[in-house]
Amino acid sequence: MGKRIGLLGGTFDPVHIGHLRSALEVADTLGLQELRLIPNARPPHRDTPQVSAQERLAMVQCAVAGIAPLVVDDRELKRDKPSYTIDTLEQTRAELAADDQLFLLLGWDAFCALPTWHRWEELLQHCHILVLQRPDADSEPPDALRNLLAARSVSDPQALTGPSGNIAFVWQTPLAVSATQIRQLLASGKSVRFLVPDAVLAYIDAHGLYRASN
Ligand code: ATP
Repeated sequence: MGKRIGLLGGTFDPVHIGHLRSALEVADTLGLQELRLIPNARPPHRDTPQVSAQERLAMVQCAVAGIAPLVVDDRELKRDKPSYTIDTLEQTRAELAADDQLFLLLGWDAFCALPTWHRWEELLQHCHILVLQRPDADSEPPDALRNLLAARSVSDPQALTGPSGNIAFVWQTPLAVSATQIRQLLASGKSVRFLVPDAVLAYIDAHGLYRASN
């Protein structure tokens, strides 16, 4: 049987325990051998002032060091412009064995916006999609996704077979943490201890990131 690999993209500005718990829970539920956190490149004007892509990457590296099966994949930062997910999937797929299973993790909001993505109808040729949904949500998918869901969704994520092609929902209660909240706390001189791993906090402090004086 092939390997089972998950992909979670994000800005990670900075990475926090919400991302990490969610990733770890999915990896446990699905029995993933690897869950790759992929920091997204952003146009330079959209980077947080004083926090570079390399620093966002370094924080994710600090966060997951030694925490299998979480790993960092820096391929999108190696390109000098924002990447399309389809490019990342094609590149990743080309490096894997034909029977390896690839799972793209998407929050419900991102999933609903799928029809706006570049070559979105090809995504499922390369991966399964795991939609992270909160148990209390009662959202309706957009019309453009109804047919796709009817054709491709399976109710039990653990029953996903084959390397790609299906959609499953993973129900989890997200921790009430966001990178926005963390940036605001730091900018107002408050502590973010316990919202980010200690190693990330040490990196933020050592480099004076997100502080108003920067
Ligand atoms: P910001 O507050 O800057 O918008 P964010 O905290 O939402 O950032 P992102 O880097 O944009 O972080 O998120 C990457 C992925 O992690 C997204 O799919 C997002 O839905 C998910 N995510 C963000 N916060 C949480 C959380 N608390 N629990 C679970 N997943 C989360």
